[in-house]
Amino acid sequence: MIAGHFGFAAAVKSRAPRAPLWALMLACVWLDVVFVPLFVAGIETIVPLPGTSGGYGEGVIHADYTHSLLGALLISVAFALVAAIWWRWSVALVLGAVVFSHWVLDLPMHHADLPLLPGNAGSLPLLGFGLWRWPAASALLEIALVLLGTFLYARAAARTAGAGQSSRVRYVTAALLASGFVTLGLNWLNI
Ligand SMILES: [Zn+2]
Repeated sequence: MIAGHFGFAAAVKSRAPRAPLWALMLACVWLDVVFVPLFVAGIETIVPLPGTSGGYGEGVIHADYTHSLLGALLISVAFALVAAIWWRWSVALVLGAVVFSHWVLDLPMHHADLPLLPGNAGSLPLLGFGLWRWPAASALLEIALVLLGTFLYARAAARTAGAGQSSRVRYVTAALLASGFVTLGLNWLNI
């Protein structure tokens, strides 16, 4: 899930206007951004569910560091600390919370592959409610998040937009919708 995270970040922007939209977008997928080098290094992996081609929602994601509960918390705190160098604390805390929201939103989607501790230390029970077993329902949920988040963003931005800013709000709204649907489309097609 990526598009759904973007939708959530857009919704947060409507309530936290001081947080830059680009930073919120980066924060909401930061766990996946950190996942990429670990994936390339073979430390974190994606294995297709048995009997599937590994399409949308059909992967068991062994992201045992970035997507462990404690790992996600530590990455979120680190993100907030770095963000606090540039922005006031209230903004940095919002950004850190948005980083952690990734794990919270992944929890209902993932197959049971989210560990509690980094590296799945102690082999504790793995979490994930497995909504991905129903790919169409999962994709619809992502679309709902994109539409709701974009709507909340656009409504809040239109309210506070000064003279001459309304076209900017329209462009950003269109960009949010486009990025959400393109991301979901690529995800769905497994590109
Ligand atoms: Zn993720």
